[in-house]
Amino acid sequence: MILCVMATLQESQVLEKLSGVRYPGFSRDIVSFGLVKKILIEEEAVTVQMSLTTGDLKVPQKIKADAEAALQDLARVVSVRIDVHAPAQPVGATGSPAMATTAIAGVKHIIAVASGKGGVGKSTVAANLAVALERSGASVGLCDCDLYGPSIGLMFGTQERPFADSDSGKIQPVEKYGLRLMSMGFLLEDGAPAVLRGPMVTKYTQQFLRQVDWGDLDYLVLDLPPGTGDIQLTIVQTVALSGALIVTTPQEVALIDARKAVSMFHKVNVPVLGLVENMSYFLCPSDGVRYDIFGKGGGQREADRLGVPLLAQIPIEIITREAGDQGLPVTAAAAESEAAAHFVKLAKSLRQGLEKN
Ligand code: ADP
Repeated sequence: MILCVMATLQESQVLEKLSGVRYPGFSRDIVSFGLVKKILIEEEAVTVQMSLTTGDLKVPQKIKADAEAALQDLARVVSVRIDVHAPAQPVGATGSPAMATTAIAGVKHIIAVASGKGGVGKSTVAANLAVALERSGASVGLCDCDLYGPSIGLMFGTQERPFADSDSGKIQPVEKYGLRLMSMGFLLEDGAPAVLRGPMVTKYTQQFLRQVDWGDLDYLVLDLPPGTGDIQLTIVQTVALSGALIVTTPQEVALIDARKAVSMFHKVNVPVLGLVENMSYFLCPSDGVRYDIFGKGGGQREADRLGVPLLAQIPIEIITREAGDQGLPVTAAAAESEAAAHFVKLAKSLRQGLEKN
């Protein structure tokens, strides 16, 4: 809530100045991070109230100094007082920004499946992991958070329109192979790409996460878009994630971007549960010779460097690609196959990792 008491100085002018102040260690500003709670303008004095959660006291000091300096530029301001609250909540050592994250009622674990780079198989891993978790007896939801390039509808062979309950205002997810699914693709006409600007992306993502009636779930798997953009930041600020899985190939160009994704989750105190190396190798079906198409050992080296476990090495298999294209993830289409076994193992490692955290 932002209150403006008197209009001598416009609240928008204050906000504009404050949006030039960066949260220490982030490229994002304190306004878009949601730190500014109240602005009081009286005559020529402006008071800005902020709330942030951090274990590092230097962070509020720096924000206070920078915000005061930014507001001093406003000619009519003669006195500036900035109250920075540091609520006594336990946070990680990195001193993350104020995260108004909450759980989703009825959902035990929210797992983000992310990647730095597109095309590394993130959606394939998310879809098969969700199926493998469900096959292990858990209740599972899968939310395709890629507003620009949703692919879960294609992978599960459905473009069913979710039903919106007019009483509760909640959207009922689509049910397929025992999973509850939601995707922006279900809401778009003819799969047309969503053309959205930054603030709308934030709004849609928040609604998307909060307005779906997931019911009781053991796991909600979020298939994130590639990279570290607005959707990812909105997600980590909106819901309390149990952790993130980062999908990469062994190739350096993918690993560089995976590193950025890991760093983003660390900065906002979301545990990185591990790396998944996809397209690790190809075993020739006719002679059993192994080909390391995208290089060898990249995933393990990066996991060691980052101090996170390498949870799986998933080979390139024709059946995995075919099953995905046919709208039936391989873990459901050929549950007894070698390809499915890798995802089943990944699901097991993930569950073990969550128990440890
Ligand atoms: P991303 O979500 O990272 O953009 P996708 O999951 O859409 O990537 O995968 C890109 C393409 O690669 C898809 O055609 C998918 O079927 C294929 N693919 C992904 N992983 C594998 C794999 N392990 N074996 C064979 N094909 C794969």
